[in-house]
Amino acid sequence: MATKQFKAESKRLLDLMIHSIYTHKEIFLRELISNASDAIDKLYYRALSENITGLSRDDFAITLTIDKGNRTLTVSDNGCGMTKEELENNLGTIAKSGSLAFKKENEAKDDIDIIGQFGVGFYSAFMVADEVKVISRSYQGDEAWCWQSKGSEGYTISSAEKDSHGTDIVLKIKESSDEENYDEFLDQYRIESLVKKYSDYIRYPIKMEKTKSRKKEDSDEYESYTEVETLNSMVPIWKKNKNEVSHEDYCQFYKDKFFDYNDPLRVIHSSTEGASTYNALLFIPEKPAFDYYSRDFEKGLQLYASGVLIMDKCADLLPDCFSFVRGLVDSQDLSLNISREMLQHDRQLKLIESRLEKKIKSELLSMLKNDREKYETFWKGFGRQIKYGLYSSFGANSELLSDLLLFYSSSEKKLSTLEEYVGRMPEGQKYIYYACGDSLERIDQLPQAELVKDKGYEILYFTEDVDEFVTKMMPVYKEKEFRSVSADDLGLENEEEKEETQKQQEENKDLFGAIKEALGERVEEVRLSRRLKNAACCLTAKGQVSLEMERVLNAMPGEQKVKAERVLELNPDHEIFPILQKLYPDHPEVLADYAELLYAQALIREGMLPEDPTAFSAVLCRLMEQKEK
Ligand code: ADP
Repeated sequence: MATKQFKAESKRLLDLMIHSIYTHKEIFLRELISNASDAIDKLYYRALSENITGLSRDDFAITLTIDKGNRTLTVSDNGCGMTKEELENNLGTIAKSGSLAFKKENEAKDDIDIIGQFGVGFYSAFMVADEVKVISRSYQGDEAWCWQSKGSEGYTISSAEKDSHGTDIVLKIKESSDEENYDEFLDQYRIESLVKKYSDYIRYPIKMEKTKSRKKEDSDEYESYTEVETLNSMVPIWKKNKNEVSHEDYCQFYKDKFFDYNDPLRVIHSSTEGASTYNALLFIPEKPAFDYYSRDFEKGLQLYASGVLIMDKCADLLPDCFSFVRGLVDSQDLSLNISREMLQHDRQLKLIESRLEKKIKSELLSMLKNDREKYETFWKGFGRQIKYGLYSSFGANSELLSDLLLFYSSSEKKLSTLEEYVGRMPEGQKYIYYACGDSLERIDQLPQAELVKDKGYEILYFTEDVDEFVTKMMPVYKEKEFRSVSADDLGLENEEEKEETQKQQEENKDLFGAIKEALGERVEEVRLSRRLKNAACCLTAKGQVSLEMERVLNAMPGEQKVKAERVLELNPDHEIFPILQKLYPDHPEVLADYAELLYAQALIREGMLPEDPTAFSAVLCRLMEQKEK
């Protein structure tokens, strides 16, 4: 029989398993038992949806068998089983399993740790066995097959005998050595304690034939007898009372089930009775999954109907803005063979969704209030999603999400909520000021912000693409309007000052006109500015599209480009201003060169480059030469 090779990734994981350190080896049992449980789930669910008769929930079980003489431990289930092709596809490669994706993401981290903290599936069997046989018969056929492997060399598949559907995993336990004791995996008490430790919540009985001894009747002698015992309590963790479940239990459950390496930041465990009866167990992860911000990410909660898994990712249970939440809902009110299409219109589901939405929000708020550090960790990973949630609902979610927002504050030098910002607003401050830029440092240097800062007003720093768009959808918070430091009217001038500006603007009209002419299409207008203190000039935009929005929108794929209507603003109090006044109208060429320099420096301070660097260099050189003359 030909020996087949494992796919490359599988081989790597396999090598890792075989050479893993000893203390983590025991988790192989948990892995095999959860596979067995999944296989039963699958069969049970399919039986319901495909109308397969003759199966009763009570018949399902996972059986552990120890054979000390042959050094084997067998994990059997009467679940869906595997066809020959499935054996080949599922056990010949792990490319599809969550483990690999996880490993890719964490390539740099210690391999060993991954094994301890994170489920690695079927291959973990090779941590304790030097040979593994998988005898399986699919519920769809009557042929059985035996997959067999001694590890990295490869595997064989041959025909086998099996009376009914399901899978037997037979582990040939390694010999103990001076350093490592494998005999314990042939010890019934040790196996029993591992089941209790890792697999207690499994919803099917895990049975084992135990050898016990008792005193013979009318004699002092002992005799041994065997008895089949169920080792697990079978109560799923979400059906237990909160006070029966430790934080560690929740964390372990989360990591096993949702393939995360980190503990969740928060656990929400709730049971609700009334209009809709359900248990929910939700987790707020610490960090986004590697594919979270990609198109491939699929949101959703596991959905159980009376303890039976009916859907792995039920999207309708989770609002988009909270798509990072992992977890499950178990409801008695749902029918077991409800179809996906029907689920979408299910009233119960909508009801549950809106309750969960409130729950998640209040959990996040409580984290924000009581555990700021944790909340900021959360914000780092998922703040963007919350903002998108606000934006993409066209503001409809403002009430739900606005209190969860954090922005960096110019005066506090740390993240601040809007509520905190508004609370600090001195009397007379009309607006919530913000400034956009790609980093905190750059925003700090923005000339546009000078006056607002000088007035002692706080500015929120918008460093993410989505930030300014959020304010377009939610223009007002607690009756305070958002205002960009680049906006036309900052609400800082009184009538007198306004008049003065107007007057000066009028007096210099021709100068501004000449500069505008020199710059051509690149700017819409050149005008006098009151927002500048130290800088000579800055760039702002008229109309709806800000410079920041222009950048963000144009970075998106698509033909249509937008253009901000740029305005070059000049500071009348800067030393350069009288020089410009002097140049006009007698030296139009020099004024034109100066216009280039002013425009270029304003661009650079915005983090942009002059459109034509060659022309810009030429201007610089020309002016340097002139200085020499
Ligand atoms: P994962 O469980 O993460 O998908 P595994 O390596 O543990 O990865 O298992 C690979 C696949 O093999 C499973 O997804 C499942 O389809 C199949 N499998 C494993 N054990 C069993 C079993 N006892 N019965 C039926 N199928 C199984």
